[in-house]
Parts: sequence; C-alpha cells; structure tokens
Amino acid sequence: MTKIVSYKPCESLSDLIINDEFRYQQKGYHLITSAIMMFGFFYFGPDVMHAFWKLIIPLGQWKSVYLVLNIAFPLLSHLFNNLFYFAIYRMKHPSIEKYRILNQPWPWEKSKEDWIAFRNRLFKYMSMNLIVINISLVVIEYLQGVDHYNYAIENLPTKIQYFLQIVFFMITEDFFFYFSHRFFHWRPVYRFHKIHHEHYNAFSCTVAYTHPVDYFFGSVLPFVSGFKILGYRSHFSVYIFWQFWRILETYDGHCGYEFPWAMFRLFPFSGSSDYHNFHHSKNMGNYSSFFTYLDSLFKTNKDYFLFKQSQKQQ
Ligand SMILES: [Zn+2]
Ligand SMILES: [Zn+2]
Repeated sequence: MTKIVSYKPCESLSDLIINDEFRYQQKGYHLITSAIMMFGFFYFGPDVMHAFWKLIIPLGQWKSVYLVLNIAFPLLSHLFNNLFYFAIYRMKHPSIEKYRILNQPWPWEKSKEDWIAFRNRLFKYMSMNLIVINISLVVIEYLQGVDHYNYAIENLPTKIQYFLQIVFFMITEDFFFYFSHRFFHWRPVYRFHKIHHEHYNAFSCTVAYTHPVDYFFGSVLPFVSGFKILGYRSHFSVYIFWQFWRILETYDGHCGYEFPWAMFRLFPFSGSSDYHNFHHSKNMGNYSSFFTYLDSLFKTNKDYFLFKQSQKQQ
C-alpha cells in the first residue's frame, strides 16, 4: 500500500477517498480528542435537551416555547461564540496560536479607524439579520400557526434519533448551501455576497456579517431545509439542538484557526476551517459548508487541493 503524502485535486471517487484518508491521517491523535468530544456532545446533549424540555414545557404553552427558543437561542449562541473567540484572539496563547491559519494581524490590530467603521457596519448587518429577519420570520410563522411541529414530552427522540436527524440536517443544509453559495458568487448577484467577503482572513464576526438577502437565501433557507423536510417526524427539541450544532460549526469554520480536534470534522468528507478560510482568501471555490464531496464532484475545490499540494512540497 502506497503512503499518502499530500492532497491531490479530485478527479475520481478514489481521489476523494484518498484525500479524506490523508485528512484523517494529518489529525493524528487529535482524532481521539474529537471523537471523545463528539461522543460527549451526542451522548449527553440529548439528556440535557430532555431535562430542559421537561422543565420548560410544563411551565407554559408550547407556542411560547416556540417563540422564546427561536428568538433567544440564536441570539445568545452568537453572543457567546463571539465572546469565546474574542477571548482567544486577545489571549494569544502560544498553544492556540500555533493553529492560526494565516499569520496576519487581526483587523483591530491593523487600523483603529477601520475597525471602528467595521464595527458600525457589523452592528447594522448583525441587527438586521439576527434581530429583524430572524424575529420577523419567527413571528410570521407563529401567526400562520406552528401546530404542525412536534413538541410533546412523550415524543422526545432517543439519542440515536438526535444523531441521525442532525446528520440528515447537515446533508440537506450542505446541499442547499453549496448551490445558493455558488449562485451568490455569480457576478450579477455577487453584490449581495460581497459583504461576507470583506475580510479575506475570516474571524468570528464574519459569520453573521452578510447582506440580509444573502443571509436569508444563503443561510436561513439551507439551515431550515432538513427540519422542514422531516416536519412532524422530527421533534422541536432536535431543531434547537441542530441550531446549537450549526452555529458552533460555522464559528469554528470562520474562527481563523484550524483546530485538529474540531468534532464537526470527524464525519467522512468533512470540510474544515482551513477549507472555508481558503474560500475567503481566494474568493472562489470551496462553496460547501459541512462536507467537501459536492465541491469535489463539481471540481470547485481543485485550486484548494493544488494549493495544499504546493504547500506540502515547500
Ligand atoms: Zn462566498
Ligand atoms: Zn464564510
């Protein structure tokens, strides 16, 4: 058996498998750490959801649960993720810094004026997306009726059901994300996506720094696709759990560090933070979110693998 020494552009299914084997090989013993983290997440996460569900459902109507969770949960998740990554950015601890993807100054280290101007734009787009759009969508759906979702305590899914449904949501999200993202790179509509590409070196704030049109079609619709397909066959607690998973993953993908222990990258044909950062730095290719197989199939990650190959040869 020949030893794999580098990535190569995907020309066939065997290249796809070989590249993935090499990806796992490079993670080394960190694979164990990420496997433990993922096991913990999917083993204890459903227990937490069950306990939480049993606590909140008897306290009030499930319609209020729909409203409160759908509004508060994403907002708090974005807030805590940004606080977490800013603590890392400020700390600059060598044991973390060695995982930096691009060793370039962060935007706030370059120019104070530009950073202040960016913060104002960030506040504008984040409020528009996370407050105006999210709340409007939730309220519109609430007014139309949200009886078709499954909230019942007696229907709470098992751990394995949580896992399988999250995997299904990942696949559907990635599918719709790939095509909508690729569409937004088409010149006539690129102006909507341009904002997200303002920084070629991604960092946590980049996640929700998007034009509202891009946010709605490129993020919200792919995100809800799996849950809408499953409908009543899923459970509302899985949807909340999925929000948590997806938000954590997208922050990992935009944080500017390639952490080899990231549990989201344990799945076969997964992307990585480095993979998405390449998309930000080159502004082309690598359109997927969770996986790489669609990019490989449509040969939109060729440049990335050629770049990785050249890096390895240096
Ligand atoms: Zn893009
Ligand atoms: Zn991005």
